[in-house]
Amino acid sequence: MKVEDNTDIIMEGALIARDRVGVQDFVLLDSHTSEAAFLNNLRKRYQENLIYTYIGTLLVSVNPYKELDIYTVTQMQLYRGVNFFELPPHLYAIADNAYRVMCSEYNNHFILISGESGAGKTEASKKILQYYAVTCPTTEQLQVVRDRLLLSNPVLEAFGNAKTLRNDNSSRFGKYMDIQFDFKGAPVGGHILSYLIEKSRVVHQNHGERNFHIFYQLLEGGEKDLLCWLGLERNPQKYAYLVQGRCAKVFSINDKNDWKIVRKAFSIIDFTEKDLEHLFGIVASVLHLGNIQFEEDSNGHVLSPLNVDLAFYARDAVAKAIYGRTFTWLVNKINGSLANKVGSLSGDSTRKTVIGLLDIYGFEVLDTNSFEQFCINYCNEKLQQLLIEMTLKAEQEEYEMEGIEWEPIPYFNNKIICDLVEQKHKGIISILDEECLRPGEATDLSFLEKLEEKVGDHAHFVTRKLADQKTRKSIDWVDFRLLHYAGEVTYCAVGFLEKNNDLLYRNLKEVLCNSKNGIVRDCFLLSELDSRRRPETVATQFKNSLMSLIEILMSKEPSYIRCIKPNENKEPGKFDDCLIRHQVKYLGLMEHLRVRRAGFAYRRKYEHFLRRYKSLCPATWPHWHGPAAEGVERLIKHIGYKPEEYKLGRTKIFIRFPKTLFATEDAFEI
Ligand code: ATP
Ligand code: MG
Repeated sequence: MKVEDNTDIIMEGALIARDRVGVQDFVLLDSHTSEAAFLNNLRKRYQENLIYTYIGTLLVSVNPYKELDIYTVTQMQLYRGVNFFELPPHLYAIADNAYRVMCSEYNNHFILISGESGAGKTEASKKILQYYAVTCPTTEQLQVVRDRLLLSNPVLEAFGNAKTLRNDNSSRFGKYMDIQFDFKGAPVGGHILSYLIEKSRVVHQNHGERNFHIFYQLLEGGEKDLLCWLGLERNPQKYAYLVQGRCAKVFSINDKNDWKIVRKAFSIIDFTEKDLEHLFGIVASVLHLGNIQFEEDSNGHVLSPLNVDLAFYARDAVAKAIYGRTFTWLVNKINGSLANKVGSLSGDSTRKTVIGLLDIYGFEVLDTNSFEQFCINYCNEKLQQLLIEMTLKAEQEEYEMEGIEWEPIPYFNNKIICDLVEQKHKGIISILDEECLRPGEATDLSFLEKLEEKVGDHAHFVTRKLADQKTRKSIDWVDFRLLHYAGEVTYCAVGFLEKNNDLLYRNLKEVLCNSKNGIVRDCFLLSELDSRRRPETVATQFKNSLMSLIEILMSKEPSYIRCIKPNENKEPGKFDDCLIRHQVKYLGLMEHLRVRRAGFAYRRKYEHFLRRYKSLCPATWPHWHGPAAEGVERLIKHIGYKPEEYKLGRTKIFIRFPKTLFATEDAFEI
């Protein structure tokens, strides 16, 4: 990470305005460990429509829930090529900084966007993509790549997003997208990785929620002939997989219009009519599957070795498997179309650098937390660990480079929780996998017993007995509880084994392998029927994909955006203190601020410091002719800095407390 010299902006305006609109970098807060001060600053700014604030180079964003006039092309041009801290905090500043460093140092970057559902992650990632589309150089030939990059979004959102209680356009998968640039800085292609699509939504939606958008788009917008060919009726109420949430129509969503956008996107991303025929065939077949009913009949109608419950279970499993795998197929297909221009157009496929955008689910605590929350929260533990390690590393490197003694920073290292989940043999995922290997014998309860036995005394696992004694909050007999870095979460173990196994009956798999639908055939390979090959469990697959994601990220320069949801009602202007305090905690913001400020709150190049404050000392005013470092030494002696307040590095002065700088700034103003 580039540790930025952020004090220019402090001088230029933020300090002067610090009372009315707060400080635009949290490291400037007087009382940096106080959550209350942090919240105050965030609130002040939010009320002035200033939704972005820095912690050093990390950007905190609070969802405004209204259109702000800060995403215009003029704004984009304003941020283009301008130093990180010279303008008010913005997504564009983060995007531009990553881009400029990439172009000048020829290295790879990523921008990690996290936050809870509805906090604004996807909007942020789309705005960053638009920023690059508008501000990066391009050629007529490359415009097609640009369009495909932009239009991959509506397609993926149609199949991967849904209306939930928390967000009308909630991403139900994690997404990492590399934007590839050639040596001139022009976007030449992209690549997308997707994580853990929420397949269960295909067959079940809670009250007030919907299935994936594509189902409604097809029914509302699909041409008459198409629907007729697919044997579909326009009315979503006719489909069992669409009626459970009882909200097929959503005020903020125009399915008909979205269908048009998606159709157009498909044509630009280069899907053939045949592809689309197969794809919509699958969407329709899922709806038809959902309407299949089973009845027990002593005379038989269809002969089946399954009882009614198992028949429904098998039906849903097929629907989920088809949809889940089609989503993966879709991502691969889009990747093909994003990749095929690279090299052939830029003329040199080897000279590419990338900026990766990671839009991933935030820490989740629901009323009932299941296998999905367990995976999501594990993912957040891993990313938190990455952030802490990379930030600490950057701080350490900066101090070393400047020849300043490294002072260990007290912080909570959540590696211990990651280990609890992922360690081979001893971790929760291994224990779960072992139980999945004992079909017929193991149950969710035996999994719980194994957990008690193997990790029961771990500091971050709360055993049922202990919970009763210590916290007096009893744990239900089917629950287990983990102490995450962000807080305590109780998981209900019911369904863990089944979701982790994610098995399909063999004869159903056989049918799918022989399907006439090309996509289904691509998704279900005959080799899977080889019973000697045991497929990886869902948790292990997820663990492995996370490990490789972390590896990808570790090799790149990071930028971070933490998104905050201001209230539960999607209401503009409403700042719910309690809700936001929670997020500040589990986004690890105080931890980050502590790490960022543990040694020195700010650092500033000698030349800059001198330029700003030289008038405070007769020896340096109006000009200092010697080396800047000596000038600064004279200056701070004159204004009375105490030795514990600062350190002098090779090229920068490091100031420990904001108040020292504030005092200097005040003296300067007088
Ligand atoms: P999920 O995890 O459920 O996918 P998310 O963090 O991706 O949630 P978004 O879909 O990006 O959330 O945002 C939710 C809604 O909030 C958007 O549909 C939009 O209405 C509003 N919103 C988010 N960011 C902004 C913004 N910068 N300006 C205006 N409105 C915004
Ligand atoms: Mg999203």
